[in-house]
Amino acid sequence: MTGIPSMIDLGGPQLTIVDGGSFRLDGAALYGVFPRIFWEKLNRPDDDNRVLLALAPAVVTTAEGVVIIDPGIGTGWGARTIDRYDIRGARPPAEILSGTGFSPSDVVAIIATHLHFDHIAGAVQITAGSEAESGLSDNLIDDPDNLEPAFPQAKLYLQRAELEAARQPDLRTSSYVASYVAQVYEREGRCVVLEGDSQPFPGIRIVATGGHTPGHQAIWLEQRRSSCSPETWSPLRRMSAVRWRRELIMNRLSRASSRRHCWRRR
Ligand SMILES: [Zn+2]
Repeated sequence: MTGIPSMIDLGGPQLTIVDGGSFRLDGAALYGVFPRIFWEKLNRPDDDNRVLLALAPAVVTTAEGVVIIDPGIGTGWGARTIDRYDIRGARPPAEILSGTGFSPSDVVAIIATHLHFDHIAGAVQITAGSEAESGLSDNLIDDPDNLEPAFPQAKLYLQRAELEAARQPDLRTSSYVASYVAQVYEREGRCVVLEGDSQPFPGIRIVATGGHTPGHQAIWLEQRRSSCSPETWSPLRRMSAVRWRRELIMNRLSRASSRRHCWRRR
């Protein structure tokens, strides 16, 4: 991994940033109304106008167990999807934890900043023996009947607004929202639905921000007050070898409001 430290000592919870690979998104979709001339030198698009983005799951070890913030894009995708998004180096659950001394069964919580597939599809995996395993169709990963939690003991923490939005994705968001992840964890009775700010574990504080998505949440690791929200604001992105400047926004006014909210709460 280039440019990203493997572990940050916060004096309480231990934070490990994992190299979760990379993928590409359409530059116009990512940067929205900003003209290409402003961003193409920062993040040069390929011949298909796609820009490179890092995937960086965060593993946090606390006195109450292992917590993963946004496990990433996952490895269940078929060749067509891998080619469409140029997914490279995505890691299966056990590899996300390699080097930490923990296994997937040690994970007690998955905290979803939001339900976009590049952040949270890695919370599920294709069930052994399912129809999807035969590789009949790329779309089968989207079917919750083919999926199971990738971390057998973990609960999924997300905001009610995010869950409600995932239940009714619209034309703008349906290709990004991993509704199937929420469905799998709900089916297993392992969804923890939050109603605003929360502190589910010592040293881990969740702040409901909205903005990027209706139920987006930022995660604060206390002691040194470092933020782990890849979408709202993060010192981590300054460490990334891949530039993260991005403007994939579902509600621009809400995002501006959430940024002010986060800065006031520091
Ligand atoms: Zn997103």
